[in-house]
Parts: sequence; structure tokens; C-alpha cells
Amino acid sequence: MTSNVVPATPDSIAAAADLLAEGGLVAFPTETVYGLGGDATRGRVVARIFAAKGRPRFNPLIVHLAPGWPAEEIAIMDERAKRLAARFWPGALTLVLTRAPGCPISLLASAGLDTVALRMPAHPIAQALLKKVHLPIAAPSANPSGRLSPTEAAHVVETLGDRVDLILDGGKCPGGLESTVIDLSVPEARILRPGLVTAEALERELGEKIAVVAAHDEAPGAERRSDGAPAAMNANSEIISDDEIKSPGMLASHYAPKKPLRLNATAAEPGEALLAFGPNPPRSILASLNLSPKGDLVEAAANLFAYLHRLDASQAHTIAVMPIPEDGLGAAINDRLRRAAAPRP
Ligand code: AMP
Ligand code: MG
Repeated sequence: MTSNVVPATPDSIAAAADLLAEGGLVAFPTETVYGLGGDATRGRVVARIFAAKGRPRFNPLIVHLAPGWPAEEIAIMDERAKRLAARFWPGALTLVLTRAPGCPISLLASAGLDTVALRMPAHPIAQALLKKVHLPIAAPSANPSGRLSPTEAAHVVETLGDRVDLILDGGKCPGGLESTVIDLSVPEARILRPGLVTAEALERELGEKIAVVAAHDEAPGAERRSDGAPAAMNANSEIISDDEIKSPGMLASHYAPKKPLRLNATAAEPGEALLAFGPNPPRSILASLNLSPKGDLVEAAANLFAYLHRLDASQAHTIAVMPIPEDGLGAAINDRLRRAAAPRP
């Protein structure tokens, strides 16, 4: 174990804020997953975040703001953005917006796009840190690229260890699933990544239907790229090339454990661990964890990554996953499971 993990206290949060102000990297809990934070206004710091995650390309990062931070100094807040921010901030909603003139955020955090992704987290430790440092903080999930998102400090210690200057341990993340990413930089709002805020809730607030633009490798007509990896497709089932992928959340294989996953399992085969859902699941000899014995999707989302981490560390060769209903948060849970099960690039 590295010694750079500390319980989150007023003193350690103040020390973390000092580190961030000096250009350091700090992992901290949010209501979704742990973030790997750095000063979003400095390109060198943002570059360190990419390096620590081992991201193969510069995908844009979510910029986190303290409550009350004037988002309009960073991005153009049109009526839709103002409505969604008023309703869902602080919370698990990320808005992709056009950068404001004079936007202080490093272009690398936007991966050279003219957009920036903003979120105001609700977690008290994240808020205390953001208030103290008084800077916009770029923070992707604190895991190596393509791997499971961390929902406990121990996950960050295991996978990023000393690539982070400090890890604030604030216990388990209550939400356990990433934020919903909605693109408002285009005339028709679209969801780039399903997450803790459901499409239905967003549609209710905006009073319009919102397309979900995500990767589908089981979709009719899905194709493979020349290297054999499944291609991502947009809402019109057009194949999106690597360069056009707007969100790594759109990559077919992402959020992946080391072991293969078998979806829609009704029972565990010999040698398989079981990720169960609902009452009276079938037995697994090796290892079995139930996302929610009472069939509650909010509880299941909160447990998802932690349980995948635990089953990934079991003796099993494969993780068998029982079916999860597709309604409400089930859409986001199934999205992560399909990607975790997709052929690896
Ligand atoms: P993570 O790095 O795990 O926090 O995921 C951040 C998500 O937000 C990814 O799916 C990013 O691609 C997406 N994202 C961040 N900034 C933008 C942007 N400017 N345009 C589109 N998607 C973005
Ligand atoms: Mg991530």
C-alpha cells in the first residue's frame, strides 16, 4: 500500500487544495465515482492526468466546479443549460457546452474541441475541496484508461497508486455510476453517455425527446473496424470513426474488468462467478454478489463497479451477469455492462 491515501478531514482537504494549486494530482470522491483531479486551467497539469490514466488519446475531460461558480465565464449557458443546471446541479449531470470567449480552461482538457464539459458535484468532500482550491478542476474517473471506474479509495490505490500525489479517502461513492453526459453544443440535445440522471428526467425538464448517442455492437448492421474492434455508431446507425468519437463513454469496450463477462446469465457455469440481481438468485460455487436482492436499480448502480472489482479479484475465469431491467437507471447499468463485455480493443 502506498502512503499517499489519507482520510478526508478539513486538514487533509486543505492540504489537497494546496497540492492542486501547485499543479499536483489529487483523487477525491464524488457522488458518482472517484475523480482524478488537476487544475483544469493548466495544460501541463491536464497532460499529467492523461499520462497517469494511460489514455491512448487525448479525450476531453469533465471540468468540476464549486457550488455557485459562474459557469458562464467558462461556457455559453443557453436557456437549456440554465434550466438543466438549475434543476440538476449540484449533481450527477455533465453538460457539454460551447466554450465561452476567453474560456480559462486548457484546450487540452477540451481535447482541442470548441466545447467543454462541466459538472458541479454534490458530494460534500468534492465540494469542500473545490471551494478551498477555488479553481476549475479537470477530473476524469481515477482509473487506468478503459478499466473499471473506482467507487472506493482502495480501487484508486490499487490501480493508480503513486501516479497520484494524494488520494482523499471519503468512503464509498453513494451513486457508484458515472454522471450522465448531455451535449448541448448542438441544436438538438443528445445524451453522449447514460448515467445517474435518467434520460426521462432530462426529457421532463427540457420538454423534448432526447436521443441517446452511444456505442452499439449488438445493433442491427453493426460493423467492425478493420482491426476487429466493434465500431461505435451514432443515433442514425452511422459508423463513427475513431476520430469522430465525441466521448470515450461511446467506445464499445470501456469500463472493463480483467475477466470476461457473460451477460443475461440465468445461472453460473462451473468456474464462473455470479453477479446477481433480485431475490433468490441461483447459487455460484466460486463467488457471488447480489447488486440488489430487492431488485432496486439505485442500489444496483451504487454497487456495480465495486462488485465487478471484487469478482474480478476472485478465482473465477468469467463473471456471469444476470439480466438487469432496462428501465430508469437500468439503461445506464446495462450500458456499462455491455461495454465491459464487449470485445477488447
Ligand atoms: P471520465 O473521463 O471517465 O470522467 O468520462 C468523461 C466523459 O465525458 C467521457 O465520456 C468524455 O468523452 C465526456 N466528455 C468530456 N468532455 C467532453 C466534450 N467536450 N465533448 C464531448 N464529450 C465530453
Ligand atoms: Mg472514466
